[in-house]
Amino acid sequence: MAKIIVVGCVDERLPEVVQAFLNSHGQTGQYLLANTPAPSLNFKDQDRTLTKVAAVKGASEVWLIDHLNCGGYTLAGEDDSEENHEKHLASAKGELEGEYGFRTVRTFIASQNDEKEWEIKEVHV
Ligand SMILES: [Zn+2]
Repeated sequence: MAKIIVVGCVDERLPEVVQAFLNSHGQTGQYLLANTPAPSLNFKDQDRTLTKVAAVKGASEVWLIDHLNCGGYTLAGEDDSEENHEKHLASAKGELEGEYGFRTVRTFIASQNDEKEWEIKEVHV
């Protein structure tokens, strides 16, 4: 039973980090992870997954997990700053709540610290 649709980045470093984060937050078995480049910019690539999982599984939440140093942002000609990620996460959250009707949309930014360890923090946009 997937109650959360998690949209992460296709960056090869991320899926393992995101799954460890979700499992450590008690979400094991509760989510479906869908990956697309730069989630806040391209979450609509997962349109079919979002609508079908919501309809079939009753998922009511979406978690969008962006990350810094994202190739998808560079490819789109977007500034890779935290502020710009927050701006696009806010816009995506608005659409997911408005047009898609999800009750809960949570937004996160993953980044690496000086020791190259990943941290994922929730941003309230
Ligand atoms: Zn990325």
